[in-house]
Amino acid sequence: MTANKTKLLILLALQGLFLKSSFAYFTFPQSEMKISPRFEMEISSIVSTAFYLENGFVWKELNEEEKSLWDESLIYPLARNEWMHKRISYIFPHQLDRTYSIFLGSIERTYPFPEKYPTHPYNEFGFQDINTHNGVTSLSPEIYLQGKKNQKLAYFFDNHPVVNKIIPITSPQKGIIQITSKAIKHLDFFPEKISRVLLRGILFHEARHGDGHGKHLGFPHTLCPYGHDYAGQLACDTPSNGSYALQAFYLKKTVEACTECNEYEKEVLRFFQVETKGRVLTTKDKLSQLDQERIYEIENKITELTRSYFDEDDNHRISSISKEIYRLNDELSRIISRANRRKTLILDPSPENILEKDEEQPF
Ligand SMILES: [Zn+2]
Repeated sequence: MTANKTKLLILLALQGLFLKSSFAYFTFPQSEMKISPRFEMEISSIVSTAFYLENGFVWKELNEEEKSLWDESLIYPLARNEWMHKRISYIFPHQLDRTYSIFLGSIERTYPFPEKYPTHPYNEFGFQDINTHNGVTSLSPEIYLQGKKNQKLAYFFDNHPVVNKIIPITSPQKGIIQITSKAIKHLDFFPEKISRVLLRGILFHEARHGDGHGKHLGFPHTLCPYGHDYAGQLACDTPSNGSYALQAFYLKKTVEACTECNEYEKEVLRFFQVETKGRVLTTKDKLSQLDQERIYEIENKITELTRSYFDEDDNHRISSISKEIYRLNDELSRIISRANRRKTLILDPSPENILEKDEEQPF
């Protein structure tokens, strides 16, 4: 039996005792430590800078489209900090020997939206492919969903002696974020100021995974469509107010507001903004595979008909071929105009939670 399994068994036995005595036991004062001491010094300082230090810029006012998607108070640095810190409870490094446990409490809970169980695939705490963004993963939506599936409260536990943190995942907003050191090193390729902004953008992205409820709980990613740079990967979003959209928005507003950024720094940020925004699917992207196939089909038919039009001697046949070409042309324009009509899908971000009455109400 592995050490982790033993630990889990002990925990399962213990939590039964604790939970029987009082749920309040688990609300013992926990340190406000949100960055795990398991990080190497250097990486810890990078993560802390990205998490705690806002660059202080007041963003430009939001335009109409932005106002329909985001809370206007986000233009203020303090409100942005509050928004993110509310959605991130703990950030820890990915380590091969798993240093944390996840377990289910024995109290049966009534979860909201009981008829809407998760639709996105999750692999029993494997966390390999889900909501992973360049080595940064929010585990809490999956932990919460496991609790929901079992009608029990799920807990995250880090037994590091300094932390000794047990976090009841009463909502995916109790963001548990795992970061690989590779992800940090990858960002460190850029100047320090830029890499911190990029990492902060990723943290905003992960924080967004705590929002939403029912079927769109956690704003899960969707497969990128045929023809996309990330085709076939769970690296796109259908809503216009999901994690990638927020991340792109953060980068855009930072570039706008950064008076001390030089052109190179702004260019790097703009590149990532465009790359990230490209993962938010527009109607055009969503229809592209199906429509593209139909467009090819129509174009081939038109070519074929045009050929027979010129080969044909019979006037009656010529007229019917001509009508068919016009009909197909009309269909072609309809598909193209429909595909170009950009639609936004905005999902209600209000979070799902199973808080007790006497616990703090969510934002
Ligand atoms: Zn994500």
